[in-house]
Amino acid sequence: MTTVVRTGSIFGLRVRPTPWLEQTRQRWGERAIPGDWQKLLKDFSPVQKLVHLTGRRAADYEAELGKRLFDEARATYRETIQDELGKLGCAGRTAVAPAAGPELSAIKDRSNWAAASVANTYNVELAKEIARIGEDTPTANRNVYAYRLFHGTGWDEAYWRDKSTEVAQTESITMVNAAIADFYARNGDMLQPTASVLPLAAVCSICQEMVAGNPWRSVDEVFRQFDIPPHPACPHYVYAISGRISNEECMLLWAGE
Ligand SMILES: [Zn+2]
Repeated sequence: MTTVVRTGSIFGLRVRPTPWLEQTRQRWGERAIPGDWQKLLKDFSPVQKLVHLTGRRAADYEAELGKRLFDEARATYRETIQDELGKLGCAGRTAVAPAAGPELSAIKDRSNWAAASVANTYNVELAKEIARIGEDTPTANRNVYAYRLFHGTGWDEAYWRDKSTEVAQTESITMVNAAIADFYARNGDMLQPTASVLPLAAVCSICQEMVAGNPWRSVDEVFRQFDIPPHPACPHYVYAISGRISNEECMLLWAGE
């Protein structure tokens, strides 16, 4: 594992390496992409294979989605840092979206992974639905498949109705947490924040555990123990608690640059 140690100084503040970020970067960069749809096509009829070919999400879709997710992720990341600056009383500081370095790489890796994951999951679900239609209606021809899958309020529309919301929510809360983790990994020495995982309501056991740990002694401590969000459409994020700081201190903070 390579560790990027950036001990340069910004306005005299020693910038610490960010162990959480390094871990996450590896996780996002090397994480397996779910969805082995090729396997599902093995026993398909020629018609079913053709229907899947015309319907599935290919590399061009993935690249375009990756770009869109990346832009949205950077914006969310920047806004989150701006919110943290606001909480600290640093009205004079403007957060910037990372334009280089490990933070940018992490955002890029995450967006590419998410896009590949969205495309592959769709291709798997499309294959499953084609198989279901085939079992239902063994005589189905290409038009029957096309109608059931893509016409009007067919399967495809219902799929994206739920999925788009889930993806947007998951990617957004992932970036909120990434920005908070990075902000306090770099500024924690000065700010010494404690932390709470919010919202307090939690359904799954991992989230209940994160909330049960409130109040946490530091922001880092939560991120060392949990990969947040732990599941799709999870609303949880780490809320840092520290006092307001002086204008001079505000100028020393790392704010995304
Ligand atoms: Zn949760």
